Amino acid sequence: MSSLQAPRGTFDVLPADAAQRTVLEQHARRILGAAGYGRIETPTYEATELFARGVGEATDIVQKEMYSFDDGGGRSMTLRPEGTAPVCRAYLEHGMHKLPQPVKLWYLSSFFRAEAPQKGRFRQFWQVGAEAIGAAGPETDAELIILLADVLRAVGVKDTHLRLSSLGTAETRREYREELAAYLHAHEDGLSPEVISRIDLNPMRAFDADDRRTKETMRNAPILLDRLAPEDAEHFERVKVLLDEAGVSYELDPTLVRGLDYYARTLWEFTSSSLGAQSALGGGGRYDGLIEQLGGPPTPGVGWAAGIERMLLAAGEQPVPVNVVDLFVAIAARDSTEAHQAGFKLANAARQAGLSAQLELAGRGLKGQLKHADRLGARYVAIIGDPMQISLKDMEAGDQTEIAPEAVIPTILRGSRVA
Ligand code: AMP
Repeated sequence: MSSLQAPRGTFDVLPADAAQRTVLEQHARRILGAAGYGRIETPTYEATELFARGVGEATDIVQKEMYSFDDGGGRSMTLRPEGTAPVCRAYLEHGMHKLPQPVKLWYLSSFFRAEAPQKGRFRQFWQVGAEAIGAAGPETDAELIILLADVLRAVGVKDTHLRLSSLGTAETRREYREELAAYLHAHEDGLSPEVISRIDLNPMRAFDADDRRTKETMRNAPILLDRLAPEDAEHFERVKVLLDEAGVSYELDPTLVRGLDYYARTLWEFTSSSLGAQSALGGGGRYDGLIEQLGGPPTPGVGWAAGIERMLLAAGEQPVPVNVVDLFVAIAARDSTEAHQAGFKLANAARQAGLSAQLELAGRGLKGQLKHADRLGARYVAIIGDPMQISLKDMEAGDQTEIAPEAVIPTILRGSRVA
């Protein structure tokens, strides 16, 4: 074995895993496409400033998890740690604010965060995400939550649980942050040093803390949900009613925080109890201030992202479509250049005709080739000895007939139509 290995926290997607991922992607495309979301792909890296401004200077992502590098020309670039800021950048760059609103987009891409790897947590991982930019109403929030629930259900994710909250607007949050910071300063005795060091930077993160003492202290902390401005409370109420009507169950969790700074109003997260410590499947929220923060006009937006690896872990083994092999071309006359040429031509012609066809490429003996064809599940094997005479073996029926080369493909096509 070579000493070269995939970098820590990264993984290879081998063909056996790729089948599951393809199925997941098909579900996402079907569900999001049917709701009018168009696919978008943004570059793997962006100007570091986009994430510093878009994700938030105070977040873990920006403070310690970004893979940043100099592009050779003195500009700092960063491998994308998330998808919303790049999608908003593209929305502005391509003048999508001039299109009929909202602009609805979805993506399936890989992202990069310098985190400590563990089960379900990687340094390069994949997310499917959806964003609706330019719509302020609660129907958009509810639509996105329901679409994520639909994707999770279609993928077969088990034991899902939805937590829901509202952060209010930036102004409410500012006032609340002051109140919370004052509470935290007054109770520093009951907080971990890390939480204390962040009080003035981001006091909300205190709700996220794992240590018992901080958790205890946070039990009596002021709650933002109780302090929403009337129009934010009304928006949140409407979201809840729409979810109730759609039969989507959720739990209100006023302590819900997510690792990104741009959220306002609705915030949600799906978890699965069948995952271990890394139980978050995906989540999202409303980010009405983000586009403006990136230099655009005031534009509402809402979206989510869900982790592919977590979804697949929580779904367990799922049926995947089997690869059908219509034809395996075996070479009986191994020393005959003509036989090899005829076999090559036949395999190509079969593929052109829409069949799935494989040609013997490993120099096996005839017995080995038939065994291999059987292993592949090939429906027919064309055995080429004399290039003008081909033996076509029906692997299911077991019978073998001599036919002219030009009759092979029509025979298989007739066969596949019957099957
Ligand atoms: P976030 O962009 O942080 O809101 O994450 C959305 C979802 O992406 C999470 O709920 C996870 O399912 C997944 N995710 C985030 N970070 C990682 C990671 N380092 N490795 C694997 N999945 C991740």
